[in-house]
Amino acid sequence: MTNASLPSYLSRENVGPWETYLDQVERVAPHLDKPLIPWIETLRRPKRSLIVDVPIKLDSGEVAHFEGYRVHHNLSRGPGKGGIRFHPAVTLSEVMALAAWMTVKNAVVQVPYGGAKGGIRVDPKSLSLAELERLTRRYTSEINILLGPDRDIPAPDVNTNEQVMAWIMDTYSMNQGRTATGVVTGKPLSLGGSLGRRDATGRGVFVTAREAARRLNLPIEGARIAVQGFGNVGEAAARIFAEHGAKVVALQDDTGALHSGGGIDVARARTHRELTGGLKGCAGAEALSAAEFWRVPCDFLIPAAVENQITEANAGAIHAKIVVEGANGPTTPAADLILRERGVMVVPDVLANAGGVTVSYFEWVQDISSFFWSEAEINQRLDRIMTEAFNGIWEVSQARALSLRTAAFVVGCSRVLEARALRGLYP
Ligand code: GLU
Repeated sequence: MTNASLPSYLSRENVGPWETYLDQVERVAPHLDKPLIPWIETLRRPKRSLIVDVPIKLDSGEVAHFEGYRVHHNLSRGPGKGGIRFHPAVTLSEVMALAAWMTVKNAVVQVPYGGAKGGIRVDPKSLSLAELERLTRRYTSEINILLGPDRDIPAPDVNTNEQVMAWIMDTYSMNQGRTATGVVTGKPLSLGGSLGRRDATGRGVFVTAREAARRLNLPIEGARIAVQGFGNVGEAAARIFAEHGAKVVALQDDTGALHSGGGIDVARARTHRELTGGLKGCAGAEALSAAEFWRVPCDFLIPAAVENQITEANAGAIHAKIVVEGANGPTTPAADLILRERGVMVVPDVLANAGGVTVSYFEWVQDISSFFWSEAEINQRLDRIMTEAFNGIWEVSQARALSLRTAAFVVGCSRVLEARALRGLYP
């Protein structure tokens, strides 16, 4: 079926995020301006990839080793920027893909950064707070050769937060002999963090969803929302949709899924998660299986967890009008084609979740200038950047009959390759 138009390396069972990214680049190639085409190979190769051993002393006195990564995918448009992920499934090829998506994302919203990403293969839930601090500080020391406010600026990602960013900032600063707040974003407010950063990715998801809905004449008021993932991104997106009169009909996290036709109380779900560690068992909603979650009829489906969640196994059963990718790489290439054939609009990750890095940019600018903005100013600027990015990509998709994903890649990759071509080769 639809797989006929997929390259052979995208076998059904075995699609990794890097293969997904390569497929997305393949689709862009025919739509690039001629002078950029010779440079496209740049996008298929990370500029540099660092693999580090991260040994730490456990509370028991034993030494444990973890594998960590930091990848600079492309630095043509500025210093490397992208989050750090702590997860038991982190691999080099995953981090390569996540860094590459940052390259495209940063160009889509025109923040002056290249693409980078990092991670450690670890289950952070298995560590004490003191062990987590030692792991973060040792990893920071190992990747220190790449870091700096004008070289590479990490941020939070899956299972990392403001506290982890504070440790990274402190470790880097102690080695520099000065306080360098601009080396990392997503910091606590008291250490040069920005108002609005915590909700920024979820708010950007909402803004791009709102713009997509406008094209389909779909009102947000009363719209049904299903959200997979209830962390940094999913919780904020669900809350902001609810604030605008939408009904959160389904939520899923790694402990379970919930459904309520009348709408789940997001604040109650959050309190339940804080008390019990997950959504499972939250009162006021019925339990769903993971498979049933994807079948819930809704207007907006927001995958906001990790990669490869919408696959050939569930794409045919999705009853959403619009999928808004809060996560990076949640849809496999085969599932993407199925959704397109079924007329489901997909707002792609490199656009939909770019609100996080946009406010990271605001944080970095505020740190460098030591002048801090109000939350209203930040949210207004975020809304404007996300709306303009959506409009530009929408126009390309309409003019050239492309999916929003391919249009976003055409816009983003063209900006990256233009910078690359202008810089030329040295030596
Ligand atoms: N980890 C987030 C992302 O995937 C934010 C990156 C940043 O702010 O640098 O976009």
